[in-house]
Amino acid sequence: MSGRTANGKSGGATAPAADSRGFFAKIAQRGADRPFAPASSSKDALLLLKNFEESGRGWFWSTDAEGRITYLSASIGEALGRPSSDYIGSAFIDLFGKDDDASDRQRSLPFILTKQSKFDDLPLKAAADCDEIWWAVSGRPFFQGEQFGGFRGSGTDITAQRRVAKDTSRLATYDSLTGLLNRFRMSKLLETTLSAFQVQKRACSVMLIDLDRFKQVNDTLGHPAGDMLLKQVAERLVNVVGDREKISRLGGDEFQIILQDVEDRGVLGDLADRIIKSLSHPYSVDGSRCIIGASVGVAVSPFDGRTSEELIRNADLALYAAKGSGRGRFRFYSSDLLQTAEDRRILEEDLRDALANEQIWLAYQPVVSATSNIVTGFEALIRWNHPERGSISPALFIPIAEEANLIGELGEWALHKACEQAAKWPGKMKVAVNVSPVQFANDLLPKIVETALANAGLPAERLELEITEGVFLQDSSGTDNMFQALKKIGVRLALDDFGTGYSSLGYLRTAPFDKIKIDQSFVRGATEPGSRNGAIISAIVALAQALDMETTAEGIESLDQLDLIRSLHVSHVQGYVYSQPVDNDTLLERCASSDWVIEPSGPAVQRGDRLSMYRKIGAIHDNHCYAVVLRNLSVSGALIEGILDVPTGTKFVLDFGDGQLAVSTVVRSMGHQQGVEFEERLVSDGNGGLCTSRRISPYMLAAAGMPLANLPPGYYETNDGEQKPKGLPTFSTLADWKRPDSSTGTKDSTTANYFGNVDIGRR
Ligand code: C2E
Ligand code: MG
Ligand code: MG
Repeated sequence: MSGRTANGKSGGATAPAADSRGFFAKIAQRGADRPFAPASSSKDALLLLKNFEESGRGWFWSTDAEGRITYLSASIGEALGRPSSDYIGSAFIDLFGKDDDASDRQRSLPFILTKQSKFDDLPLKAAADCDEIWWAVSGRPFFQGEQFGGFRGSGTDITAQRRVAKDTSRLATYDSLTGLLNRFRMSKLLETTLSAFQVQKRACSVMLIDLDRFKQVNDTLGHPAGDMLLKQVAERLVNVVGDREKISRLGGDEFQIILQDVEDRGVLGDLADRIIKSLSHPYSVDGSRCIIGASVGVAVSPFDGRTSEELIRNADLALYAAKGSGRGRFRFYSSDLLQTAEDRRILEEDLRDALANEQIWLAYQPVVSATSNIVTGFEALIRWNHPERGSISPALFIPIAEEANLIGELGEWALHKACEQAAKWPGKMKVAVNVSPVQFANDLLPKIVETALANAGLPAERLELEITEGVFLQDSSGTDNMFQALKKIGVRLALDDFGTGYSSLGYLRTAPFDKIKIDQSFVRGATEPGSRNGAIISAIVALAQALDMETTAEGIESLDQLDLIRSLHVSHVQGYVYSQPVDNDTLLERCASSDWVIEPSGPAVQRGDRLSMYRKIGAIHDNHCYAVVLRNLSVSGALIEGILDVPTGTKFVLDFGDGQLAVSTVVRSMGHQQGVEFEERLVSDGNGGLCTSRRISPYMLAAAGMPLANLPPGYYETNDGEQKPKGLPTFSTLADWKRPDSSTGTKDSTTANYFGNVDIGRR
């Protein structure tokens, strides 16, 4: 780094500031004792001083009793862009500008001058228009007889030293690439925040963000491009979060955000969503266009941890779970995630043997012509019947297979099986097979496809490969070649899940697709008031028609959605409104005779998502806690089972575990089942489930005699630390009814295990 010389221009070397400052201080001292005027005895000294002055290593100044400049070295005029003589007569303090960084001492210069006391090496910022110049200024008052005559002093340029000091402190605080806080500073900030907040009983959330597919960009476009991308990511984060000082880059492609006083999971989920959306828009890096995604894990203190280590570890677990459940998602920490991480490891091991053990099979979902209701083909959807866990969703095990390098084998099996079974279907119905981007990147894919077709004797035009936008993340020439090779075989190509990532109509123009599959979430959005999705679907359909492509709307469940899709001229429909996926035998049965025509059937309108479940929770009424079973759940209410004949209007507090309490009112009562409505709506847990936006603070629980950060079985109004129910049951329960001898005291045995780690979001 080049040092600034006193004339304000950059020089090659840094001035030996400490030495020259000492020297000038001494001269100034002498000057204060004796008027700074030529004296015959010090002619040499004067020459020496002039030489120093001209060398630009320091400067001199003097004022009169009113603080007006009477002398100023020429170098200062040069630095400030005007001849020094212009400053004679103006106020000395006007040489210095204001600066946010300025020390209190700079602000106190007028005070020091009025006090007529000496000062040494006061760091002052010059009132320069352009460059930032700093001086260390010293001064001594001088007296003419008894009378105060003014100040004399010296100054040296300390711009270079200040810059070095500032850079050093920046390095200790900021990430040099993105300018965000660095890991060290962030962990200090989190520690101090949490310890202060613990005393003040305030909440603080941590969000960990990890970029999806960043490695691919780095590998294909190179590290400099990766760096440019990270900078853009940082800027987008600042835009969404609004406060640069709350965001840090922990290293690599991991970012962290601290949100003080935010505990509402509705607010946190919205923010995480906005972050994911913003980071998933395409980037332009060095002339190349690239797309990445982001996954977010969230943990909130004091609920999910009280120390910074606990909170970070738990946000990290949530992030890991978010990545595992398909990427591009957020997840809140919940206490069962530790188990989930372990589960995942076990699943990975089990998956290795699943094919050999014939636990994997294909289900087929009809794809139906929207106008004629005739089935035109089927999508093959992979299924895993786990011997202990039952059916496991491909949304869960496909990402595991991708990470564990098992997707190649699994995908190849699916291709072979689907071709083999489709070859035996009557008529010319097509079969669609999902192909993961990992398979798409394999040069051998065309060969694998050809072999599958040949072995089964299936004409190529009856096979459709469904691929997602993920394939466009790979280097574009490889992608183009793969498209060409597959088209050469004669198979059809469909773009799956359109509307979920950053959906660019550009793909449709450049890639040889035969079909676009519009994602379920996009169609659902279209039925919401004020949504623009309908207009976008129209545009997609128009473009598809112009390019001679078909369109399929996925996940249509209700008749109103079907009407909408038909009115937008989407050509094909797939969804429960026609049929759930069925096994191959059922398929053969249903289309044995002739064309399979399906009359759509389903609810008239899509209701707010209602999750079916079978989960034990607590229902608190009059200080008594009943064990009930949660049968279904939506954002606004639930169906509970287990208490008999409860009048409508009765209030319960439903306890979903982990401090999640929902005040509810019974709105329908049917024997042992009650429909309840929540006072406050639930919010998405980022995992297809729901959670309360707020939780009962562990501090409150502790005040009620419960251990901190751990929700035990409990009766929340007790304050004597006793764990026994205070109130007597008002209603009889299903357990009483089924077990009339419940007076033996076994009734409460279930209450011990329904509290604690209840994930209310899981189906
Ligand atoms: P996808 O390709 O978008 O498949 C559609 C998914 O939507 C299927 O979920 C299907 O069962 C579900 N679905 C269809 N109609 C409805 C409806 O009306 N309502 C609702 N709620 N859902 C509906 P599934 O079978 O769980 O598969 C999930 C994803 O797993 C698939 O999404 C696909 O991306 C992936 N997948 C499935 N089989 C394979 C495979 O053999 N290879 C690869 N690489 N991925 C696969
Ligand atoms: Mg698909
Ligand atoms: Mg899809």
